[in-house]
Amino acid sequence: MRLWQAMGQEIHDFTHTLRERPVVPQVDLTQIRKQLESQYAFQQPVQLEQLFGEMCQLFRVGNVQVTSPHYFGLFNPSVHEAGIVADALVALYNPQVAMWSHGPLANEIERLTLRTLMQHLGLPLDSSIANFTSGGAEANFTSVIAAMYHRFPQIQESGVAELAAKPRIYLTGECHHSFVKVARITGLGQQALCQVETDENHRMDVADLERKIQQDRLAGFVPLMVVGTAGTTSAGLVDPLPEIAALAAKQQLWFHVDAAWGGTAVLSPKLRPYLRGIESADSVTWDAHKWMSVPMGAGMFFCRHPQALTKAFTIHTSYMPEDSEGEPVDQYTFSVQWSRRMIGLKVFMTLAHLGLDGYAQLIEDQANLADYLRERLQQKGWQVRNQTALPVVCFTHPDLHAGRHTTKTLLARIYERGNVWLSDVVLGEREPLLRACVTSFRSTPSDIDYLVQELEAVRQVSMAAA
Ligand SMILES: *Cc1c(COP(=O)(O)O)cnc(C)c1O
Repeated sequence: MRLWQAMGQEIHDFTHTLRERPVVPQVDLTQIRKQLESQYAFQQPVQLEQLFGEMCQLFRVGNVQVTSPHYFGLFNPSVHEAGIVADALVALYNPQVAMWSHGPLANEIERLTLRTLMQHLGLPLDSSIANFTSGGAEANFTSVIAAMYHRFPQIQESGVAELAAKPRIYLTGECHHSFVKVARITGLGQQALCQVETDENHRMDVADLERKIQQDRLAGFVPLMVVGTAGTTSAGLVDPLPEIAALAAKQQLWFHVDAAWGGTAVLSPKLRPYLRGIESADSVTWDAHKWMSVPMGAGMFFCRHPQALTKAFTIHTSYMPEDSEGEPVDQYTFSVQWSRRMIGLKVFMTLAHLGLDGYAQLIEDQANLADYLRERLQQKGWQVRNQTALPVVCFTHPDLHAGRHTTKTLLARIYERGNVWLSDVVLGEREPLLRACVTSFRSTPSDIDYLVQELEAVRQVSMAAA
């Protein structure tokens, strides 16, 4: 019991003292390696309570504290207690989710969760299929597999090398780079990716998309799919989904929406309109481990065409039970993974704990905080360079272009101080910008003030030193 009490205590203490802790790790590579190797040679057994204490100490200083209210970085969220408890339960019971018959409860909990979210996306509940993935990268991988098997079921036998014409995938430079990996590992090759121009707000230029499709047809390619991003990684921008959907339908392309981070906006009646058009997608990527504030990894893949997935992933073996007739229920027959951890419980429990309205409130609060950040920055002479209703703010200051002081040196000083974390990004072909994302539901207006204070302190010192 003492171990579990210690664990409960740590969960409580850590979350309640997080705001006062440095966000940036106080370690370097040589030192952390040396320390771990000297401390853990695995020769003597270590008592579990002691080991737990050691780990807590290490974890408190050894990583970027992405759950801190002063972390304004990539889409790594603070996690709700419901998600922590859920992950512990999953480790305890260790249900095997690959086959329905092994984990009826686990499977049905995941199904109910996914169907609830699918309803908010606006996909047809009766004919669509969904599953939890390791993350957005796996979901994006699955989207390309699905599009390929939908169009060319014969590749199951003959492979992509035997296709008469080369397939093309359309996306913009702001699209997530997991698609580069996908192109490589599916055997399509990077040349299958066709980069579409963007407008002045870095969103897909649909007229250029149409032009590129026509050119490709004339050149003998097969236009296969188009990827619209709903909430780009760099700037939270949303491609014109309804226009892309219309063109995809006209040209018979698979329409995938990568909403890994932004997808959560569909839970808010206020933010849902910014994702209009997502309901027309053939497939959608949505990560619960981003804006839904559950621990990694909890990706989700939604798809209108179950047959494309079963064509790609169903295998009959003597040692796995047969799927029943009708709707496929055995996850290993329609997804990449085989043995599978129960990913969905943390989403289910957080959703059940907060309720749908509670979730909507949570993400609207974060969007409002980003508005507050924009306002505070502009008051201090900073310039916001991206236009989005989602909580990512890309900004710069005229001082950063005036001389030796760059975005990089300013960030380096911020990391040295260790009090807040934000990143930099290049939007389009322009100069690097600072990028702050309100990614923690624990952040408050005073945490935003704190961030602006840090930025101002470092900027003024930089200027004084110039
Ligand atoms: C994060 C992200 C991904 C990749 O998801 P992982 O969960 O990191 O694998 C894909 N697309 C977008 C738009 C993302 O923001």
